[in-house]
Amino acid sequence: MVALTVEKPHQLALKPESGVEPAAGEVLVRVHRAGICGSDLHIYHGSNPFAVYPRIIGHEFSGEVEAVGAGVTGLAPGDHVVVDPVVSCGRCYACRVGRSNVCANLEVFGVHRDGGFRNRVPVPAANAIKVDPDLPFAIAALAEPFSIAANVLSRTGIDAGDTVLIYGAGTVGLTVLQVAKLHGARCIVADLDEARLERARGFGADVTIDSRTASVPETVRTENEGLGPTIVIDGAGVPALLEEACRVASPAGRIGLLGFSPAPCNISQQEIVKKELTLVGSRLNRRLLPQVIGWLESGKLAPSAMITQTFAADRAAEAFSLIENDPSSTIKVQLSFD
Ligand code: MN
Repeated sequence: MVALTVEKPHQLALKPESGVEPAAGEVLVRVHRAGICGSDLHIYHGSNPFAVYPRIIGHEFSGEVEAVGAGVTGLAPGDHVVVDPVVSCGRCYACRVGRSNVCANLEVFGVHRDGGFRNRVPVPAANAIKVDPDLPFAIAALAEPFSIAANVLSRTGIDAGDTVLIYGAGTVGLTVLQVAKLHGARCIVADLDEARLERARGFGADVTIDSRTASVPETVRTENEGLGPTIVIDGAGVPALLEEACRVASPAGRIGLLGFSPAPCNISQQEIVKKELTLVGSRLNRRLLPQVIGWLESGKLAPSAMITQTFAADRAAEAFSLIENDPSSTIKVQLSFD
């Protein structure tokens, strides 16, 4: 048994792990596949303000139940599951109003507590979501990244009448694109990298903008009968884009923010009030994995092309260096713990 641990910033170790038992209310998950996320790299580099070290990282993982702890009903050994990494208290204000992803006592697998880059992980039974055994583990492990997209679009609201401008065609932008297309919306994707834009077209983007050579505001000006996009999603996490988002959005538009930069930006109060814009932050997901799994199981989402490389867990260091040294060759890199 192995566990991929960040000992301290910039130091990755594959450590042997001894047996773990599920406590009461927990199930023991035998991990099969796990996706590497930008936030895993932030913990590796010491730039995640929530991480404490040493930490077993990983929060996008699927596997099968190997054992159940006392009092667990509804899950049995052999069940295939995806883990919702968001552990919330259920008692604070945010939890009581259904916003468990911003729980006052939030704990995220792989960030605040040890995560899923290991063979076996004990998880609260409520966080282990059963999936159809026919759904490949690799696809099931995409449920968490898609829950980020589902969450931001549930915050902005979305339907077939919307025109969505998505900044960034990385993993976040591409998942937002696919979930927006699933709702029937028109989608415009802007990025600086032609290879990423090509992928966005492959996932159904109606318009792509190479923002090195074309102006985003100019390109989207004629959208939505000349009013501009009804939804703007910042999947790039660039603070200055918020200013542009407010400028290009339609009256009654909604802007969804996913970046975590502490840098301030200049937004005009007048722009927000004049057009009655809605700005929403979106963090993690509020128990949306069952919805995403439904889309994956029914084939409404067909994201296998998101998985660009798979490495055996003991070659994790190679996977990390690929993402860092050749990012445009990757969308989602997974680790296999089979
Ligand atoms: Mn992630």
